[in-house]
Amino acid sequence: MAIEIRNLRKTYGDKKVLDDINIVIDQQGVYLIAGPNGSGKTTLLEILVGLRKMDHGQVRIHQVSSDDVKIKKMVGFLTQQNTLRRNVTVREELNHVKELFGLKIDTYQYLEKFKLQEYYDQKTKNLSGGTKRRLLIAMLFMPGYEIIVLDEPVSGLDTYSRDEIWNLIREYAENHIVIVSDHYLNQAAQYSDYIFLINKGKIVLEGKTEQILKEFQHDYVIKTRRKNHEELLKMIKRKEILRNLKVSGSVYNYFINREDYDDVKCLLSHQKFRLHPVNLEDIYFYHTGELLKEVEEV
Ligand code: ADP
Repeated sequence: MAIEIRNLRKTYGDKKVLDDINIVIDQQGVYLIAGPNGSGKTTLLEILVGLRKMDHGQVRIHQVSSDDVKIKKMVGFLTQQNTLRRNVTVREELNHVKELFGLKIDTYQYLEKFKLQEYYDQKTKNLSGGTKRRLLIAMLFMPGYEIIVLDEPVSGLDTYSRDEIWNLIREYAENHIVIVSDHYLNQAAQYSDYIFLINKGKIVLEGKTEQILKEFQHDYVIKTRRKNHEELLKMIKRKEILRNLKVSGSVYNYFINREDYDDVKCLLSHQKFRLHPVNLEDIYFYHTGELLKEVEEV
């Protein structure tokens, strides 16, 4: 096994932050760890790369235990923090990695696919958030680690920058194992081969993206605000369709089956209701009662 996490537990005070996590990975590809803020993603990833200690369980990479210092050389890790030195240029940062790993590459040429050549002689402190993140990723990929782990690499970036970074990650994963955490599940899932959904330190669902969608027991979701609920009930003739209600704050979510679609499609023309095919964030919400993002959409 390339990566083996067995019965991993971690507690801070009396809070179980990771509660019996089991993950086995043996093939290249993108593995997504998705969950809301505070669900335990960073703790899990930092234990995996040997930066934090676990309380119980086993974590091994190619049979080497994660508390062995050798782990740090086997896995590349991108933290959420900006770890670039402020008063150096992009060129200097890259040459530093080049020397550290004894690489024989032309660092200017290397930057082409990261669209960073124009910044080569600029100070890192003057780069935008998205450009800094692309540079950190360029540096992470340089040594060619077989396994890389990225903690929320696209958080805080706009949709365009997120897509750019996801495309780079996708490309690296053609020949490597990439583990990524994120809380934009629907977008991240487009670039992931396999997903682990985590909530309050437990894996609540895992599988291939298409498989999770295919196997979910409902096909559509109706979303509305509490204040529009009475109106919704009046519009649906066969009330028994509305049996799977999940509430988050003031938002009502009804999970509906395909055979009942004809009876609810009248809602499509009303602004107060949203009817759409179930997506992964809906499935996450169905299983946990929690939204991945803080903003509720209707
Ligand atoms: P995520 O990455 O999903 O946002 P984290 O792993 O950062 O989640 O945190 C999970 C939980 O563990 C949170 O409730 C957080 O407050 C708690 N936690 C994380 N690190 C520490 C720490 N060093 N001391 C105490 N509590 C911590």
